[in-house]
This record gives sequence, C-alpha cells and structure tokens, in this order.
Amino acid sequence: MDAPPESYFPQDYRGARKAFIAACEARGIDVVTRVHPSAKGPDGKPLFLDVCALGPRTAQKALLLICGTHGVEGYFGSGVMTGLLRSGVTAPPDARLVMVHALNPFGFAWNRRVNEDNVDLNRSFVDHADVPSNPGYDELSEAIALRDVSDAGFAQADAVLHAYARAHGRAAWQQAISAGQYNHPDGLFYGGDREPWSLQMLRAVLREDLTRAQRVIAIDFHTGLGESGAGEMIIEAASGTPAYARAHAVWGDLIASASTGESLSAPLIGTIDDGLARFLPGVHVTFAALEVGTVALEPMLRALRLANWQDQFAPGDARAAEISAVMRDAFYTDTPEWKRAVWALGERTVGQALDAL
Ligand SMILES: [Zn+2]
Repeated sequence: MDAPPESYFPQDYRGARKAFIAACEARGIDVVTRVHPSAKGPDGKPLFLDVCALGPRTAQKALLLICGTHGVEGYFGSGVMTGLLRSGVTAPPDARLVMVHALNPFGFAWNRRVNEDNVDLNRSFVDHADVPSNPGYDELSEAIALRDVSDAGFAQADAVLHAYARAHGRAAWQQAISAGQYNHPDGLFYGGDREPWSLQMLRAVLREDLTRAQRVIAIDFHTGLGESGAGEMIIEAASGTPAYARAHAVWGDLIASASTGESLSAPLIGTIDDGLARFLPGVHVTFAALEVGTVALEPMLRALRLANWQDQFAPGDARAAEISAVMRDAFYTDTPEWKRAVWALGERTVGQALDAL
C-alpha cells in the first residue's frame, strides 16, 4: 500500500531537507546543494538551497517547482516535492523537471516568511535602483510594524488600520499592507535594497538546469490565503493577457489574477512572475503560484506583526519560541486532513503542468 500523503510533510526545515534528499537518493537522482554564505539555523548550523533535476539537461521544455520562497510556507511545497519523488514522478520524454527546495532556507528554518535580511523574496524581483512606491504602506507603517505588542498596543494600531479600511475599502487596505514596500527595512512585505542571495542562486539554477529550455512552466508553492486546505493558482497578469491565457490553458479555473481582483491576494509588486520572465529572456514562461489556505487573514497578519516585532524591535525576547510556533501554525496546518487536501492540490496542479508539456 502507498504511504499516506501526510507522511510526505516535514516537522521542520532539517527534517524537510533530509526527506527531500533521501527521496532523491532512493531514486538515484543527484542533488545539487548551495550553502548559504552567512545565515545559520536556530541550531547554529548552515542552511542550504537544494536542487534536483530529472530528464535531460538539454531539454527544450521544462517544469520548474519552487518551495520556501516565503520560508515558513515551505512545509507545504517541500511535502509536495518529497511526495512526488516518493510516488515516482518522472519528467515527460524530452522534458526536464527541476525542483528548487527551500529558496529561502533561513525563513523555513526560523519559521519566518522573510529572509535573513527581513526581505520578502516575492517582493524583491524589482530593479532596486528604481523601486516602486507604496504610499498606503508609508501611511500605515507604524501601525503595521508596531513596537508595542501588548493588548493595548495592538488595539491602538488596529484602530489605525481599521480606519484606513473604512476610508479606502478593504481591497485598498490589503494592498497597502501587503503589495510590497521599499522604504521601511524594519517593516513587513519589504522588498529589500539589493538582489538577495536566494535570487542570485535562482538565476544560477536557471542558467545551469534550463540552458536550452524554450518553454518553461513554473509553480511556486505558497500558503496562507484562503479557506483551510483550499487552493488557487495566483498570477499577477490580468485576465485577457497572453500570460493569463497560457496559465489558464494549463490550470483552468484554478487560475486567479491578483491584478484583476479575482484572487484572494492583492496585486503585488516585484513578484517571481516578473523575475522568471526577466531571468529567462526569450523563453515562453507559463507561471502560477499555488496558494493554499491556512488561517484567516487577521490572525495571519497578527502572527506576521508579532514576528516582525520580535525580529526588529525585541531580539532576545523570551517569547521567541512561542512566536515561532504562532508563525508555524499560521502558515502550516499540521493535521492529516489539511495535508491530504493540499497534497491533492499539489499533485493535481503538477500533473496538469506535466500533461501540458
Ligand atoms: Zn507566500
């Protein structure tokens, strides 16, 4: 009998990495490991970005899977990758299947969405010499990245956020907070001021593993938004554009455009959508982020604000372990039911992509 899908999912970053590598080794598939030059895990040990590839290096078409772009969201994508490997996934003839395990290993290991520099990788695919502005975030920055996380502190900050939502609408409120910002390095959804190590490594992976690719389908695995265990394939491109049409041809009505308001996500700045198009010039790229739901938006934002407070304003605070657990729970539902539901979504969307190749 096949192993139950929940057995594919890890308990922490180290376990995730071990299971991914073991699943590759059991199949005789090499893993290429890149060690982070400076960041360490909570255990004081090095952190790694691991990549495996199936199918010929010279293939002209490829499926690219990425997990852990948002660190703590990597439990999901890692489980899917390990499950695919264990259940015998293969690349279609003349195609390559590339899996990038833990694009942001720091965030995965520490239960954070951000990387070692407080950067949200999925807002960092911008020209850092000419970054976009987000006046809504500027206005709300102190209420979002609050310095007083007592009940009274949260109440005061939330009043500011609620007033903004009342004045501008909930969509504008969500966009101001989460679209991405480049002015507040100690805040949330910060896109950084230079290209992060993880993006440099992603470019190297694309160069090495997709040298001849002319057609690439890519899935980036995320968690957070939506009903528990439900999923949507989010793209930034508006409905009616060629990018939307390509994604819709692969994944059908699972596709939801953030910029057209179909998605649970606000329209975002500097996402991997743009990055892949830029990193793979001349390549026909079909992309979507598979987002599966965990908890409601408010508790998720509260977890992110608590984690940000700890990291930026209260390092060494005794609540570190508690906040780490709150973050894990906000982005990873550690139950067999949830894992079975999201495994089914992962398996289905990867299957659709492989069929489309
Ligand atoms: Zn995410």
